[in-house]
Amino acid sequence: EPGGNVKVVVRVRAFLPREIERNAECLIEMDPTTQKTTLKVPNDSDPANARARSRKVVEEKSFTFDRSFWSHDPADEHYATQEDVYDSLGEEFLDHNFEGYHTCIFAYGQTGSGKSYSMMGTPEQPGLIPRTCDDLFERIAAAQEETPNISYNVRVSYFEVYNEHVRDLLVPVVPGQPPYYLKIRESPVEGPYVKDLTEVPVRNINEILRYMRAGDGNRTIASTKMNDTSSRSHAVFTIMLKQIHHDIETDETTERSSRIRLVDLAGSERAKSTEATGQRLREGSNINKSLTTLGRVIAALADPQKKSKSSRGSAAKGGGGGVVPYRDSILTWLLKDSLGGNSKTAMIACIAPSDYEETLSTLRYADQAKRIRTRAVRNEDSIS
Ligand code: ADP
Ligand code: MG
Repeated sequence: EPGGNVKVVVRVRAFLPREIERNAECLIEMDPTTQKTTLKVPNDSDPANARARSRKVVEEKSFTFDRSFWSHDPADEHYATQEDVYDSLGEEFLDHNFEGYHTCIFAYGQTGSGKSYSMMGTPEQPGLIPRTCDDLFERIAAAQEETPNISYNVRVSYFEVYNEHVRDLLVPVVPGQPPYYLKIRESPVEGPYVKDLTEVPVRNINEILRYMRAGDGNRTIASTKMNDTSSRSHAVFTIMLKQIHHDIETDETTERSSRIRLVDLAGSERAKSTEATGQRLREGSNINKSLTTLGRVIAALADPQKKSKSSRGSAAKGGGGGVVPYRDSILTWLLKDSLGGNSKTAMIACIAPSDYEETLSTLRYADQAKRIRTRAVRNEDSIS
């Protein structure tokens, strides 16, 4: 089956109280018919955009993505709700999973741009993850009524990558105990995986939501302790769906397995702060390594012919010659398949309404991701 491009959507959030307070100006325009997103030149009075002014930015910048979600003004007729985002992206991706494809949806953007809101959401406004879980079990229930000769098996795992360590979010944090980290292994068939990661079978929506919340809770507990983890950690929620179909006439059994990965990345501002200064990462401050490597992986995949410009230090692995530096960081190693292999993949570029520099950087990143092609195949086996 032919490869497809990474689907890229952009979403702009509403003003936060602090932005209203400083009288921030919305720098984003989205055209609902062309899906064009425009970043305007900031006005003179907003102190948050002083850097853009000192660079003498005069031109507005436009980008076109697969979809642009206008979640800035709830009163606008084009306002995109959580449901709209699910309907236009989540539902399609779940269709692919039932067809036997692996999928991955990841949220990229600076801290406070709406990544967790889009992926997890709030109890009143659930995001893509709980909606996907909901829809998954609804579809299974409906299918079981119609076609009793298909059985379903759903498992779930939840981990985070923090400071180049993998932590199992389904294992409770024990107060007073040091967190324990998991190792990565690579199998010839399955590719890279987290060794000993908890994978729990789930039978219904309540069970899966309970694990989702428990895992999220473990992420939050750690974040208050280690100051600000959630903006520095990458959280990967994975659902494994197995459909076992038994053909009564031929007595043949086939199995379709797919993996749904939903990723809430660390705040993108972390990647640049070191890149900009060219500062070498000090020992123990690997916090940004997964993000900077993700940037290099995306650049290498977007332009397979081009030699990497910033291959200092890892020229052999990450430089030209078409080698993608997946193994340079934990996150990119684990997401190898999702980024450039057997997966249908989407990126949600989350942007704040009034931060010129960070938004421009996110939009450029997203623009590059559009050019990546993956090679998704149906994961189907005859087992008798
Ligand atoms: P991130 O995970 O990127 O750091 P959050 O998802 O936590 O950012 O969003 C920052 C704040 O903005 C939160 O208070 C969140 O509830 C709010 N927010 C983000 N996106 C939206 C949106 N589309 N509509 C309403 N509130 C939003
Ligand atoms: Mg967040």
